[in-house]
Amino acid sequence: MQEYQLYIDGAFVSSAEGKKIQSVNPFDQSTVARVDCATTADVDKAAAAARKAFDEGPWAHMSRDERSALIKSISDKINEKFKELVKLEVMDSGSTYRKAKEDVYLSARSMHYFSKLAALDLTEPVEGLNKPGFSRNIIVREPMGVVGAIIPWNFPLKMAIWKLGPALAAGNTVVLKPSEETPATAMELSKIIDEIGFPPGVVNIIPGYGTEAGEALIKHPGVDKIAFTGSTAIGRKVMAMASETMKRCTLECGGKSANIILDDADMEMALDGSMYAIFYHQGQCCEAGARLFLPEKIADEFIGKLVDKTKKLVIGDPMDKATDIGPLVSKKQQDRVLGYIQKGTEEGAKILIGGKQPDDEALKSGFFVEPTIFSDVDNKTTIAQEEIFGPVLSVIKYRDTDDAVAMANDSMYGLAAGVWSKDKEKAEAIARRLRAGTVWINEWHLISEKAPFGGYKKSGIGREFGIEGLKEYTEVKHLHIDEVGERDKKQWYDVVVPKG
Ligand code: NAD
Repeated sequence: MQEYQLYIDGAFVSSAEGKKIQSVNPFDQSTVARVDCATTADVDKAAAAARKAFDEGPWAHMSRDERSALIKSISDKINEKFKELVKLEVMDSGSTYRKAKEDVYLSARSMHYFSKLAALDLTEPVEGLNKPGFSRNIIVREPMGVVGAIIPWNFPLKMAIWKLGPALAAGNTVVLKPSEETPATAMELSKIIDEIGFPPGVVNIIPGYGTEAGEALIKHPGVDKIAFTGSTAIGRKVMAMASETMKRCTLECGGKSANIILDDADMEMALDGSMYAIFYHQGQCCEAGARLFLPEKIADEFIGKLVDKTKKLVIGDPMDKATDIGPLVSKKQQDRVLGYIQKGTEEGAKILIGGKQPDDEALKSGFFVEPTIFSDVDNKTTIAQEEIFGPVLSVIKYRDTDDAVAMANDSMYGLAAGVWSKDKEKAEAIARRLRAGTVWINEWHLISEKAPFGGYKKSGIGREFGIEGLKEYTEVKHLHIDEVGERDKKQWYDVVVPKG
């Protein structure tokens, strides 16, 4: 079992009230880590440290290259600690070993990319603003100050990197609040930051409960921006709370992504892709392909093959490299998903496979739910409209592509979508009609740190990644530099200034 303290102002400290979080392995319910739990007093301390580091510390005066080098060291250290991070992520979150391996690899890769962003000068000229020679105008991008970052439990290390990377690359200081469910790898990250020797207060990592540490961070007057990833329900509250201090906010929230198969799709590829879209990480992905739209012509054949393939998925110990489906993160999440399955049946959808906990005695202490496929789903019903965040697929038949597009867009979410077809032009035309921040053609889950990712509608506000993502962590300053030079040639000379 690991023990972690809060990381504040470059030191490992106990929480002010001595509260602890017990992080549980979702496979066998053993304790993975005991972690100090931040409350309001700890948030105050961390925010003050981040404020001081931003306003007075060496961080703000470092060159872009110096900051870039420090950020790159995080990537290097993640690679050095690769195996232990993978193991810890599996135990803390229920990620399968194969998924956790990819997560740690991608965390290091993304941080390396963010270190390159840190070296960029984002200053841009504004052309054509005045008569030539009157002035030079530039847009300067400056860090916002202190960023409060709040992250969920589904990709614990990756989410921490996705917040820390661009926030630091833009020159901010950070208070990161990991999820109370999965704090372990973020706390390993605090050790990495400490070993590298970041100036104290630049990064503070304080796990705690949302209703206490999360809310205190959002309301804190010394915090300039909140970068939140989590559910739409909490995202709304974040926005409301942040309005009191008029904090900048980016919200990466939930999804109910539409996966549209056209009748000319490569069927085997679309079958595998659709399974990957929904069952990857037990469906606990914001961009999971949770609604599968099938044309009537091929629906029955597709569904039959999908069920056969789903039967072959290996449910088991997430640490076992052969396992495809691990446990859900918690008992609460397991109950939530089983509740939605019950609701789907009540609403008239038909379970084709799954629908319960596995019968296997060896899996009884884990928070498992079998991969579940519902057919005969009406797009208006609860299981097609609400985010289940589990291995539950709703299959919906469509008449023609207009019908498919209309139903795909009939959702409060708009995070991602996909279209499968051999005719890429046709697929692209459909993709352009879908109201979602990312649309894959013959692909799924490929999120790159180089391309913007985020939601339309209630899936969020703002974008992560790429230059768009970096800019979300900056304030925009218009700098107007006079070039007239002579007093009486000023444009305003005749307007208000007395002559003589
Ligand atoms: P959640 O909204 O319950 O919690 C997310 C974070 O917010 C946690 O750190 C939690 O402690 C904190 N929180 C909870 N209540 C709070 C409050 N009142 N004030 C401040 N902070 C509070 O979400 P979750 O269950 O941890 O994660 C699953 C959700 O995250 C899903 O909806 C999923 O779609 C979403 N998600 C979105 C993305 C994306 O990029 N769009 C990525 C991953 C997960």
